[in-house]
Amino acid sequence: MDRKRIYLSSPTMHGEEQQYVQEAFDTNWVAPLGPNVNAFEKEMEAYTGCGHAAALSSGTAAIHMALRLLGIRQGDVVLVSDLTFSATCNPIVYENGTPVFIDAEPDTWNMSPDALRRAFEKYPEAKAVLAAHLYGTPAKLDEIMEICREHNVPFVEDAAESLSSTYKGRHTGTFGKYGIYSFNGNKIITTSGGGMFVSAEEEAARKVTFLATQARDPARHYQHSQIGYNYRMSNVTAGIGRGQLLHLEEHKKRKKELYAQYKEAFADIPEIAMNPLNPDGDANCWLSCMTIAPDSDITPDMVMDALAEINAESRPIWKPMHLQPVYAACDFFAHNADGSSVGEDIFHRGLCLPSDIKNTAEDMELIISTVRKCFHK
Ligand SMILES: *Cc1c(COP(=O)(O)O)cnc(C)c1O
Repeated sequence: MDRKRIYLSSPTMHGEEQQYVQEAFDTNWVAPLGPNVNAFEKEMEAYTGCGHAAALSSGTAAIHMALRLLGIRQGDVVLVSDLTFSATCNPIVYENGTPVFIDAEPDTWNMSPDALRRAFEKYPEAKAVLAAHLYGTPAKLDEIMEICREHNVPFVEDAAESLSSTYKGRHTGTFGKYGIYSFNGNKIITTSGGGMFVSAEEEAARKVTFLATQARDPARHYQHSQIGYNYRMSNVTAGIGRGQLLHLEEHKKRKKELYAQYKEAFADIPEIAMNPLNPDGDANCWLSCMTIAPDSDITPDMVMDALAEINAESRPIWKPMHLQPVYAACDFFAHNADGSSVGEDIFHRGLCLPSDIKNTAEDMELIISTVRKCFHK
């Protein structure tokens, strides 16, 4: 097949990235610390209004550090989003905690406040709530945070997919006690790999920086009173991040355009619905997703196969965590009163469309006509 590959969401570089990387080389700051790391943190603080940031090697590491700060240990229950990428919940297990999965609700595809309430009835001793903003759509933050307040439990936000998305005018990632962002290769901006821990509490960011650099006590000799990690972001990759951050709003604008274009193009096909956007928010539309009506003969696999035929990359919806073999023993709270799972339904009926901001008008036309043909349009 010699048709050009159309990507789901690949890195988009602009040139400034290389200047910051060059600076790192010129000054020999080729290490997991340096001026780019400090500046990238400051720039992210200014952009998101998060308060304080600690640049790390991945978003997963940032979630791990958030749980470390909360003191999650053996047997502690963490109520966590079910419909998400496994990196949201794996760090709970790193600390020997117990994930309890909370179903998605249909309005935003994020953590269901109803299911969360029921989970607290069974697990009033839960130590934390950890929720993701799936595909960039902000969760029902008011409702979730109100429940957390009632139970006096800290809220952690996995904003790995939602950097630049806002809820009631404020950046996702800045609502929880702790928040995290990811700069993995397919996220809205990338450092190739990287992440950030953020908090309004200066002490929290300072502590994460300490733990992420091997937890070395302030002594001349190498002394350690705590278990540390090698989780700090490199000064080279931080340079990529600084260059990318200059273009984040532009990436968001383009992602939103792609979503709007798909929505309009499929508006006359009643079997297709686009992923929901929270009316209280402004989503970055990281990935445009669609679901197919339950009574349709067309399956997500058929659409993904048709897209593969034109060399376009698509992807299933994240497989819910309560369906993962590795988490089979974990408890799960469904959104629906009859016990049926909203996330499972979205997983069975949905797919992620090519959402690369470098998609040309012709690429989009081809993708759209290919999907339409599946529905005989
Ligand atoms: C990408 C992602 C992560 C992990 O971030 P990495 O930087 O890849 O470690 C965590 N949660 C969600 C929801 C993600 O999509």
